[in-house]
Amino acid sequence: MAVNITGYKKIKKELDEKKVTLVAVSKTKTQDDIKSLYDLGQKDFGENYVQELVDKYEALPKDIHWHFIGHLQTNKVKYIASFVHLVHGVDSEKLLAEINKQAAKANRVIPCLLQVYISKDETKFGFDEPELETLLTKIENNKALFKNVSIQGLMGMATFTEDNDLIKTEFMFLKSLFDKCNTTHNSQLTTLSMGMSADYSFAIDAGSTMVRIGSLLFGERKP
Ligand SMILES: *Cc1c(COP(=O)(O)O)cnc(C)c1O
Repeated sequence: MAVNITGYKKIKKELDEKKVTLVAVSKTKTQDDIKSLYDLGQKDFGENYVQELVDKYEALPKDIHWHFIGHLQTNKVKYIASFVHLVHGVDSEKLLAEINKQAAKANRVIPCLLQVYISKDETKFGFDEPELETLLTKIENNKALFKNVSIQGLMGMATFTEDNDLIKTEFMFLKSLFDKCNTTHNSQLTTLSMGMSADYSFAIDAGSTMVRIGSLLFGERKP
């Protein structure tokens, strides 16, 4: 299926007006698909699979901001550490420690989002509220241990459901947690990554600053 250029322009305009960053989720899509949005000025792209991301990074223009939005395995961090722009799905302290280690080797600081489990879908990943608070406190008290990662915010995925009220409740919960981190924990979180093709309007209403949209731009993916 062809890239939805008209849809892209409309969504991009709406998001620009609301000061929300668009991450175009290009997993399973071709380099030509990515190029067609890149040529319109899109710089932020999201990928879920390490090998696919590395291949695209090597082949495509170097000013693309590559977001890793999938479930990142600790043993694969090393392949993307030198160039990844933002890791959205940090869901364990072990993973954060490995990102820190590989970032140090690459002589850089890697921006990260901590993933919070807000949905009822058991296949999703992330911290619950107490775990999140424990980790933020630990980072705060051990800055030297985590000096090659920068926690920029939170990421979450709502339940896959037709129940819009449930989706809204989950996004509002994540936004309240985000605000709480910035007040109670004195964190300086700026990015709240929530919202996908089906639910991004609800996410923005709830206070999202970054949405990850794939199928609305690139068409449905093959399962
Ligand atoms: C695939 C994916 C998206 C994009 O999903 P669409 O429904 O195609 O917009 C967003 N976020 C994550 C974490 C994904 O894995």
